Amino acid sequence: MIVAERKPMVEILASIQGVSRLLVVGCETCVAVCLAGGAKEVAVLSAALRLALRERTSAVEILERSVERQCEEEFNAPLAEDIAKVEAVLSMACGVGVQTLAEQFPDAIIYPALNTQFMGRPEAPGIWAERCLGCGDCVLGRFGGICPITRCSKSLLNGPCGGSSNGRCEVDPEHLECAWQLIYDRLARLGQLERLYAIEPPKDWRSAHDGGPRRTTREDLRL
Ligand code: SF4
Ligand code: SF4
Repeated sequence: MIVAERKPMVEILASIQGVSRLLVVGCETCVAVCLAGGAKEVAVLSAALRLALRERTSAVEILERSVERQCEEEFNAPLAEDIAKVEAVLSMACGVGVQTLAEQFPDAIIYPALNTQFMGRPEAPGIWAERCLGCGDCVLGRFGGICPITRCSKSLLNGPCGGSSNGRCEVDPEHLECAWQLIYDRLARLGQLERLYAIEPPKDWRSAHDGGPRRTTREDLRL
């Protein structure tokens, strides 16, 4: 899933300064699962904004909505009437959802309420961890299903650095396992340690964002 967290309240308040009619829109997919931007979080943020803004001389009207997937225009279409009524929209979706609203409603002012962080998974209650940075040329098959690009702090492809100690990463031993320890342990378990003799060539980053904004096309689905 895409993992995000809410921006600090002061930043959100600064972005909507002077707005007297606001629509807060959540998304019920990834950001709802990571408890950052679903319907519940829309209600909590809206209540917090009402409290924070109650001292203002003019009343602030806040509408609350949530859609199934803010990154797809079909789900946002029913918002048109509400968007026409307000001065600004505060999106609680990931950056893709925010940009979808901005493209779909070009005359509306759209502000992000979240900081989009990474693609990851829940590791434990209240903890989400990065697992993929979308390099566009997946190598998981060669590394026992553990991504050295994302999970090694230095994205090393040919074994660990000198900072791997007791299975922990030198960059943050308290929170990070050494990805290369994980890869070694997993390949040993699978009886595939010989894979480590292969020299991994330098990665061609053109398949990642380094090659510019990417686009996937399925010719068989095009109209
Ligand atoms: S190799 Fe690339 S696509 Fe595969 S998990 Fe790692 S970053 Fe994601
Ligand atoms: S300690 Fe392990 S995870 Fe950390 S940078 Fe070195 S090889 Fe990568």
